[in-house]
Amino acid sequence: MTVDILPLGLPGSGKGTVAKILAERLSIPHVSTGDMLRALDRQSDLGSRVFARIDVGDFVSDELISEMVEERMILPDAKNGIILDGFPRTESQLPIYDALCARLGRTPLFVELKIPKKVATLRMQGRAEKENRADDTPEVIAHRLENYRVLTAPLVATLSLAGRLVVIDGDKTPDEVATAIEAARESLALPGMEL
Ligand code: AMP
Repeated sequence: MTVDILPLGLPGSGKGTVAKILAERLSIPHVSTGDMLRALDRQSDLGSRVFARIDVGDFVSDELISEMVEERMILPDAKNGIILDGFPRTESQLPIYDALCARLGRTPLFVELKIPKKVATLRMQGRAEKENRADDTPEVIAHRLENYRVLTAPLVATLSLAGRLVVIDGDKTPDEVATAIEAARESLALPGMEL
């Protein structure tokens, strides 16, 4: 069984940090859709259209993101699973992702890193100072939090209602959060524990 770990949570919930730790511990790739998009050349035709959206905190199209993810998932190093950070992140992307999993024979483990909104905002402000990311200015942070509330929170609710979500306390150290996710991944292998 190829299990992909999908961390969900507010921007600033620590998804990226925890994903990096898990990638190291489990020797599987960390695939971040945000990083993939930011790696595009700003001067290229596609890059200029993508940056026009991500710089202001708007989402790119479902088609573009699903194509990018599929191309990444079929690479040889993804055969033992990946940590997929950033897709799906809207309800409309869930059926696209589920179809992809069915086609490629992969099992998703959705985990929500739950943290208070205040903690998320403070963490994003801290990151803005450290990394100088164009999408971590106060206005864009507010917009991304709003996008989460409007677009991603319904996806999280749908997964939860369907019994497909493991909720983890994200207000802990990244190592502790990673260990909790590893435990959830191990329990997937137990009979009757499919999510
Ligand atoms: P992140 O680094 O995950 O916060 O992503 C940075 C930006 O990339 C987001 O604000 C979106 O503009 C874009 N992005 C990343 N993943 C997706 C996705 N699944 N669907 C649409 N846009 C995305």
